[in-house]
Amino acid sequence: MSDIQNRIAEVKEKIRLAAQKKNRPPEGVRLVAVSKTVEIDRIREAVEGGAIILGESRIQEARDKIQVLGREGIQWHLIGHLQKNKVKYIYGLFDLVHSVDSLELAEEINHRGALMNRRMDILVQVNIGHDQAKFGTDPEKALYLVKKISRLKNLSIKGLMAIPPYYEDPEESRPHYTALRELRDWLTTQGFDLPELSMGMSHDFEAAVEEGATLVRVGSAIFGERIHV
Ligand SMILES: *Cc1c(COP(=O)(O)O)cnc(C)c1O
Repeated sequence: MSDIQNRIAEVKEKIRLAAQKKNRPPEGVRLVAVSKTVEIDRIREAVEGGAIILGESRIQEARDKIQVLGREGIQWHLIGHLQKNKVKYIYGLFDLVHSVDSLELAEEINHRGALMNRRMDILVQVNIGHDQAKFGTDPEKALYLVKKISRLKNLSIKGLMAIPPYYEDPEESRPHYTALRELRDWLTTQGFDLPELSMGMSHDFEAAVEEGATLVRVGSAIFGERIHV
């Protein structure tokens, strides 16, 4: 096994242990290997090492990689901010968009989907830490947004996503992950089924799994530190 493949095995084992700690079935947590800025050969190693979901931030970069690696046996997730003028490219590339944070963006995805008779699975990104530097809808506006989006026929909301402010100590991220889960649970009582929680990155995914993550987005713990963001 290569270094990358060893690290994937380690991350999966840590996910399993964190899930077990909370009596959650480990299959309920899926690893999104964040492959942004990573070269094709290293991504291929990851796929051969069991990374079946890849997370990318930029459309153009993802498109180039998907052309080479294909979509057979690989799911591609868009985890980065999506601009409205790029929406037309997402169909045929991505299986899930994690970063829908406004009604305008959702309407554009819906519009493009209707033109192509396609449907897109999405997550609503919530700015759970009220961080000025982060995208996402305010938690207070999540119900409004979920309600509006759920009426759009060519979108399917699967859950919520959050990127909390960065803390060195994962225990400081934990309350944000708890808050996202509680927001989801509350939205469920309002009639919206949102099974997926995309939360947790390299330095804090175990805390996120303990708090209910179903998708963890892990980059540098698999591929090593990135030089560029
Ligand atoms: C880059 C990125 C990640 C992965 O970050 P690491 O700290 O390398 O695991 C996760 N989520 C999003 C939205 C990202 O942009």
